[in-house]
Amino acid sequence: MICKRRVSLLTTSMTLMSSAVVTTASAQSEATMRLLDRNRMFEEQIINVADNVYTAIGYTVSANSMIVGTDGVVIVDPGQLPAASLRVRQEFERITDKPVRAIIYTHSHPDHTNGAVAFFDEGEEIQVWQRDNFGSETRRQAEAGLSGGARASNTQGFDLPDEQRISVGIAIPPPRPPRGGVNSAGLSTDLIESATRPGTVPPTHIFNEDRVSLEIAGIRLDLVAAPGETDDQLYVWLPEQRVLFAGDNFYQSWPNVYPLRGTARRSARDWIASLASMMAEDPLVLVGGHTTPITEDTMTVLTNYHDALKWVHDRTIEGAANYLTPDELVEYAALPDHLADLDYLQDYYGSVWGTVRDIYAQDLGWFDGNPLNLHRENPVQQARRMADLVGGVDELMARAHAEMESGDELGAAQLAWHVTKLQPESADAFQLLGEALAVVAERTFNAPARNYTFSSSNRYLQTAAELRN
Ligand SMILES: [Zn+2]
Repeated sequence: MICKRRVSLLTTSMTLMSSAVVTTASAQSEATMRLLDRNRMFEEQIINVADNVYTAIGYTVSANSMIVGTDGVVIVDPGQLPAASLRVRQEFERITDKPVRAIIYTHSHPDHTNGAVAFFDEGEEIQVWQRDNFGSETRRQAEAGLSGGARASNTQGFDLPDEQRISVGIAIPPPRPPRGGVNSAGLSTDLIESATRPGTVPPTHIFNEDRVSLEIAGIRLDLVAAPGETDDQLYVWLPEQRVLFAGDNFYQSWPNVYPLRGTARRSARDWIASLASMMAEDPLVLVGGHTTPITEDTMTVLTNYHDALKWVHDRTIEGAANYLTPDELVEYAALPDHLADLDYLQDYYGSVWGTVRDIYAQDLGWFDGNPLNLHRENPVQQARRMADLVGGVDELMARAHAEMESGDELGAAQLAWHVTKLQPESADAFQLLGEALAVVAERTFNAPARNYTFSSSNRYLQTAAELRN
């Protein structure tokens, strides 16, 4: 039986939503309305997904679950921020006062682990489980000197005003980290701090097998290695209730095969194989790493998710073998009709276009097969060629304004971009570029791309203001 108990503390999301409605009412695009509508999924609620299994949604950006056993409970993904996770614990304690016996991390992203301290009582015997390659994604980036930084901040929209920051795709935007300034490498210190995960409790148990079967507090469960959104991903399988906790290998959105913040390789092929393993378990309930659990037609949802990712992968490879370029493959690999309209496959968080480009780049590298891309001109040379074509840089700027007035904001942004290369002192060019990108962002449905575009727009508008002074 599914019982949804709605909790009245909806303040953060509702305030955010209503302020966005008021301030951008005149320019509200279909993309904006769809994203605001989807935010309703993240109202705070504790969902009883199966006998003795509860999932908290909307308290932290991730889904946090409790499995109740005979003499204790197991927590799957304790959440992002200790204070919010403590509220989840308080809700769980209204259901049972049995002590926490184990915490399981489905993977190493801090939005799933950093709240662990809220469930961990010093002195108690609490098992903390993770895979042996835990943290492999962030470790690789840290070694390269590329942790955190502007790209990560921009896709989350940390610097955006509330009316622009309406979604991160699979959650209500989390609180902004305190502005801690930047370190000598130019990285935001708050991002660095969140990357060190001060609320994450170190593991007591690490497994390197494909599957381990455990009994904790009278609960039979399997932990299964399942590389996908990260290489260190696992899923938790409850054979008795047939509940599968997928971590981030499933959420109600197109899978984030390539995050725009940039990351170490994520393998679509591994992800497809892990989805096939999950299907083989034949679950009745699928608890994703974000978004509400799937409790009906679960195998249909899981099968469609698998088939859709496999379709895009296979079409990309097939087209690439026939010399299609990534720009062409984005259309060639588009989903067939019976998958394209499913809500849980929309580009809320990951994107089909980003997935196609990433699969291509991973297998074939940066060269798209177009011979002209072996002979690239630098941005100033490209801009000069464009200006010469239309009769000079003033005419190029006039065309940019004309595009803006005709409603082709993307065209306006492209032309204004060229002008900024030729006249980096032109406040007018940066102003138009910023204004055009704001409209493009407003129409962008994929939340990370939208946040990134708004962040860029604001930066260009700021440059324009500085140039004017
Ligand atoms: Zn996640």
